[in-house]
Amino acid sequence: MDSPIQTYLQALHDEIAGIRDGTPDSSIPGIAGVDPDRFGICLATADGYVYEVGDTREDFTIQSISKPLTYGLALADLGAEAVDGKIDVEPSGDAFNELSLAEGTGRPANAMINAGAIAAASLVKGRGGSSRFERILKTYSDFAGRELDYSARVYESERRSGFRNYAMGYLLRQFNILEQDPVPVLEDYFRQCSVLVTCRDLAMVAATLANAGANPVSGKQVLELDVVERVLSVMATCGMYDDAGSWLSSVGMPAKSGVGGGIIAVLPGQVGVGIYAPPLDGHGTSVRGAAACRRLSRDLGLHFVHAA
Ligand code: GLU
Repeated sequence: MDSPIQTYLQALHDEIAGIRDGTPDSSIPGIAGVDPDRFGICLATADGYVYEVGDTREDFTIQSISKPLTYGLALADLGAEAVDGKIDVEPSGDAFNELSLAEGTGRPANAMINAGAIAAASLVKGRGGSSRFERILKTYSDFAGRELDYSARVYESERRSGFRNYAMGYLLRQFNILEQDPVPVLEDYFRQCSVLVTCRDLAMVAATLANAGANPVSGKQVLELDVVERVLSVMATCGMYDDAGSWLSSVGMPAKSGVGGGIIAVLPGQVGVGIYAPPLDGHGTSVRGAAACRRLSRDLGLHFVHAA
């Protein structure tokens, strides 16, 4: 017999599947044309129980949900002080692709907007025979608890069409926030956005953040607690871009959206949520994903104010 939580999730899925608003991303040619009806919800607890309904085993690209993970790797590599010198931790309240660079220094407002995420990717270096991207992919795989890969097709299409991101890269180089040729950095940023994940993977990523940086199933410590603390704080204040304030008051969990249709939300010490539903609202956030997060928060008492 299904557990009460499984029964609840099935009912929630059935109800929210009826929401038809939003349109899947069309800015990245390689992800256009996705089936708008895809919808999966997965919860993974900080002690490793997984509950899933709907399309939880289909691959899609991680897109901006990569940003907190690469930021975490940069923090682990260099420490907070060095990273802070390049990327601030202030909400910009702007859209994901706004420049939001500090006047004079060119420092991006945070690592969740594209400019800050490109800077974060540049701070990760190849090490021990592994290239920067291999290290990034390994970190994401450790978060998910399985070996991930990226979509060469989506990568190619971002590489050919991401003109605004190239412009940001060159501006960051001008300010010396990037200390190297922007093109290889941008290529790795496009690769990280093109990493293929499932809804279940996202829940495991979120549960690893909820479990103080240790994957609750494999037991592997992916990031240390001080890094997780920083990553979740920036997700809470900046993860949902220009919707971050309304998100934190209504959902009450640090979260990150991606234009591939994924969302992660994290209740520290308790649970990680992964959702997949491609149609997006004007903030670039999955419409059914946001609706599901609001309901989960309310029905299961996941808002940080109630969860203590
Ligand atoms: N690859 C996309 C970009 O850099 C990610 C956007 C997003 O998911 O918010 O524009």
